[in-house]
Amino acid sequence: MILTVLGASGTYPRPGGACNGFLLREGEYSLVIEMGNGCLSNLLQEVELTGIGAVLVTHMHIDHFGDLYPLYYALRFHPLKPWGLRLVLPAGGLDLMGRILGAEAREYLPRVFREERLIDGKVYQVGKMTVRAFPTRHPVEGYAVRVEGEDWSLAYSSDTSPTLALEEAARDVDLFICEATLPDAYREEASHGHLTSRQAGEAARRAGARRLLLTHIWPTFDPEQVLAEAAEAFGGEVELAREGMHVRLGGEGDG
Ligand SMILES: [Zn+2]
Ligand SMILES: [Zn+2]
Repeated sequence: MILTVLGASGTYPRPGGACNGFLLREGEYSLVIEMGNGCLSNLLQEVELTGIGAVLVTHMHIDHFGDLYPLYYALRFHPLKPWGLRLVLPAGGLDLMGRILGAEAREYLPRVFREERLIDGKVYQVGKMTVRAFPTRHPVEGYAVRVEGEDWSLAYSSDTSPTLALEEAARDVDLFICEATLPDAYREEASHGHLTSRQAGEAARRAGARRLLLTHIWPTFDPEQVLAEAAEAFGGEVELAREGMHVRLGGEGDG
């Protein structure tokens, strides 16, 4: 499986960056997790519009779903009408999107996207990839996800304060993509639904994750400081997610 980071900024993008997005490709199957603002451009450097297998959005915050809007328009006006793209998202997600669109667009939204509800504990199959959702602690309904292939596993935290469900999601994974929104001096600010650097490292250590990939760091903070603090708490291999980064997991992949 090849993971491509489409967007790694939290809440708002860093200069030249994009908000959350991750492309997972295994053989002919592709799954996009999150479509934060700025992701679509990076996604289309990797796959054709008609080659997107499924999109999963963990919660309805703009930095996680904003580019569903341009994706909707790109599909809707595509000459081949590649409609019915599988879109897994929390209950009411498509309705929420439709509220800022006109009546005509609201009519097409459920035709362009085939909405599927993201539910705690439900298992979703995308090709050979198995996806399971775990509830987060965040101001809106949201889910961390665990994705497994035949010989690899990955977890993604979404946005969350520390929770046992997050550790369960990341139990013994090969790669844990975890938010580390703030440096550890900002625990009070983080307690409203995010993790600090050290909390991300601690969650990864307790889960037994093999590698940690930090994401969703607010661009106003020094990522190197966040990296150093998380690395100290984790005690294993840790890196910063960057747009365009590729990570290969397991033996399979198309190169
Ligand atoms: Zn976010
Ligand atoms: Zn959020």
